[in-house]
Amino acid sequence: MFMTGKTAKNTVEFSEFEKYENEIVTIKGTIHNIRMMSDFAFIILRTARETVQCVYAESFSDYRLAEDVKEECAAKITGKVVAGETRDGSKRYELQIHNIELLSHPAEIPPVVITKKQVNCDLSTKLDYRPVTLRNPKERAIFKLQEGIQRGFREFLSKEGFTEIHSPKINFAGAEGGTNVFKLDYFGKQVYLAQSPQLYKQAMVAVYERVFEIAPVFRAEHHDTSRHLNEYISMDLEMGFIESFEDIMEMETGLLKYIMQLLKTEYKNEVELLHVDIPEITEIPVLKFMEAKEILMKKFKYQPTDMKDFDPAEEEMLGKYAKKQFNSDFIFITHYPSKKRPFYTMDDPEDPEYTLSFDLLFRGLEITSGGQRVHDYNAQVAKMEKLGMNPEEFATYLMLHKYGAPPHGGLGLGLERLTMHLLGAKNVREATMFPRDINRVSP
Ligand code: ATP
Ligand code: MG
Repeated sequence: MFMTGKTAKNTVEFSEFEKYENEIVTIKGTIHNIRMMSDFAFIILRTARETVQCVYAESFSDYRLAEDVKEECAAKITGKVVAGETRDGSKRYELQIHNIELLSHPAEIPPVVITKKQVNCDLSTKLDYRPVTLRNPKERAIFKLQEGIQRGFREFLSKEGFTEIHSPKINFAGAEGGTNVFKLDYFGKQVYLAQSPQLYKQAMVAVYERVFEIAPVFRAEHHDTSRHLNEYISMDLEMGFIESFEDIMEMETGLLKYIMQLLKTEYKNEVELLHVDIPEITEIPVLKFMEAKEILMKKFKYQPTDMKDFDPAEEEMLGKYAKKQFNSDFIFITHYPSKKRPFYTMDDPEDPEYTLSFDLLFRGLEITSGGQRVHDYNAQVAKMEKLGMNPEEFATYLMLHKYGAPPHGGLGLGLERLTMHLLGAKNVREATMFPRDINRVSP
């Protein structure tokens, strides 16, 4: 026997139905929903990305609907493609059933109803039964859309000359500092799960100039919030030979425009099913951190408790401000205080209390942090010492600086957070296929 790489195909896809109007075809899928009427039945077949309306009636053929044709059976349905009309008058192809061949039978009926327009149970139940609830067309559309975001990220950056990398997730030290790092026993040694690919993507700037990575990162967030996960997908990029940190913000603006366009064209079904309001991006306004604080105090009469960072309420107000003032769903905030940014962040030479860094807010939620990094060896060692870190512990990281690095910077974009606010969802778990949080490691 020899494999040729060509799979013989004797079934058709729903997207090909137009080609086969009034012909007999076979299609594969799962029986999603059976609706018995007085003298006919609708059998909805669920395929990878569609639901196909099949109609059973005694007049169509000699085939008689068998007792064991049940929802969630895998099946091959043969029938005649006919053009029907939807309620809005547009053409919608359906299949007049001539035969159903069952390929598998479920042992039990699903524990949650998945045949309605949406899964109507609380979030926790929905997550408990994810392998089943994701079969619901609307539910699964979320992660098809999410695929589109990643695909846009990858396509755009590849075109811009970025190299895709994969950095290790088991590391000798945490990159972002703080206490939210998972410790791991590694053959008797203590190591950490990666909080970000930061140190590695920076190292690769001296090799490939422009790199990106789409991969999970781990944060031991001890609290239960609607926007934090313990494992999330970070879409990271890092680029060398920048003239200023604004170059990174320009790159992200282009990137987001590309992603939104891709969703509109290639993910139209999902966008419609989920009623996604795709943001129009022409240009993204930029505010300095202290300007933003002033707007909060003057325009919103808000008295910030922390002058070094924003709390969620402040981010929300800034989102509203961006919409009202600039008609923009996005706003960049730059020059965050040095105290709140990690050790690798470059301070603003004009005012070292602040940094050459930025966050991007989308509809009032932080989705990105980024900025220019320290590239000079002595400057990085001095900054580490000032922060009470021991540069010797970071010897492998500092190889980048010691042996010469171009001026560079980059960003990290949280995939689930971006998806969440595209959906208008209230909880980031809605936009996470199998979320890991303080109370959940399963399924
Ligand atoms: P926050 O202040 O909202 O907790 P952060 O500033 O600690 O976030 P960064 O280290 O800047 O997060 O991470 C970059 C991006 O990764 C964030 O802008 C966000 O989109 C995403 N992100 C960070 N932490 C989480 C998390 N625990 N769960 C989901 N996404 C996250
Ligand atoms: Mg941040």
